[in-house]
Amino acid sequence: MKRNLLLTPGPSKVPVELCEVLGKPIIHHRTPQFQQVLKEVTEGLKTIMGTSSDVYLLASSGTGAMEAAVANIASPGDKVITVEYGKFGERWASLAKAYKLNAVTLKIEWGRTITPDEVKAVLAQHSDAKAIFLTQCETSTSATPDLQAIAAVTRSTQTALVVDAVSALGTEPIKMDEWGVDVVCSGSHKGLMLPPGVGIVAVSAKAIAMMEASSNVRFYFDLRKSRKALADIDTPFTPAIGIVIALNESVKMLLAAGLEKKQEYYLKMAKAVWAAAEAIGLKVYAQPAFRSRGLTAILVPEALNPKKLVKIMRDTHGITMAGGQGDLDGKIIRIAHMGAVDEYDLLTGLSCIEKVLKEAGHKFELGASLAAAQKVLNS
Ligand SMILES: *Cc1c(COP(=O)(O)O)cnc(C)c1O
Repeated sequence: MKRNLLLTPGPSKVPVELCEVLGKPIIHHRTPQFQQVLKEVTEGLKTIMGTSSDVYLLASSGTGAMEAAVANIASPGDKVITVEYGKFGERWASLAKAYKLNAVTLKIEWGRTITPDEVKAVLAQHSDAKAIFLTQCETSTSATPDLQAIAAVTRSTQTALVVDAVSALGTEPIKMDEWGVDVVCSGSHKGLMLPPGVGIVAVSAKAIAMMEASSNVRFYFDLRKSRKALADIDTPFTPAIGIVIALNESVKMLLAAGLEKKQEYYLKMAKAVWAAAEAIGLKVYAQPAFRSRGLTAILVPEALNPKKLVKIMRDTHGITMAGGQGDLDGKIIRIAHMGAVDEYDLLTGLSCIEKVLKEAGHKFELGASLAAAQKVLNS
């Protein structure tokens, strides 16, 4: 069978242990067996998110979790703030518009994210905003904010902090209760190393009060239904049974490995990729103070046609990376180091980048990126 190494920031590589779990015959969800799984996976996710409040599982991709947050946290006409520093930040604004919220959109140049001071400034101007929506790891640019410092600003205000952690969960640290984050949205197919199918929404006590008070029209993504069902260790509709069962195992794997240790390892792999890119004359797109642990966007000169390089790596060599989205289309290559990706996957990916760059006429010393990465990985 041809190699199919996923080094994309979603869906990400699924480890063999989890493929085996996913291949098992289905069980029914209204059974004590599934209830046990639901109980365990909810508790495990609470540990990963650092909360003792509710975590709901939806049968959806990550955007479903984001839609649930928007639909439940505010009412039509409510003022909210959406923050954009990449393609996924734009999604918050689109969702707010779809739900007829009165959104103030803060646009920040791509490559960095919002700073705590900028959060302070926008909240001073819009202290009546019900919520501020932002992105923890902006997957389109690989930039990530100092979420703890941002939460320190928002927690003493009336404004709820809603975070898209679809690609960040498991990879970047997050401590909802300790930091004061109100809503966290995620999905099964990035740092949690599974196929797509489960959307995850965690809500603080403040967010629960807001969703109970919201007058928005909702049905499938009505989190009041999820809350009621969860109290009986149940889901309102048929859950993505197989993926929930595998999610329980992936969460156990992450916790058994030690979440902090894993997150340090992702950071080390990130640093290895930054060094590797520089060693072959390429630039990392995100500004140094904002680089994520989970993926790296590398600027590739347009003359070398990064889109074509991604295609050759995938179709000829069986190694899948991502190109750019939106304004970065045809300008970057994104390589993931989240979830189940390890240093040997990365070195394989880097050697493939070297091969296609060499063939495209880029001048550098063969092996330079591998040497630079190995130096970091073995430090
Ligand atoms: C992947 C991703 C999403 C959700 O995308 P889906 O295709 O709906 O799963 C949202 N935000 C970020 C930052 C992501 O990386």
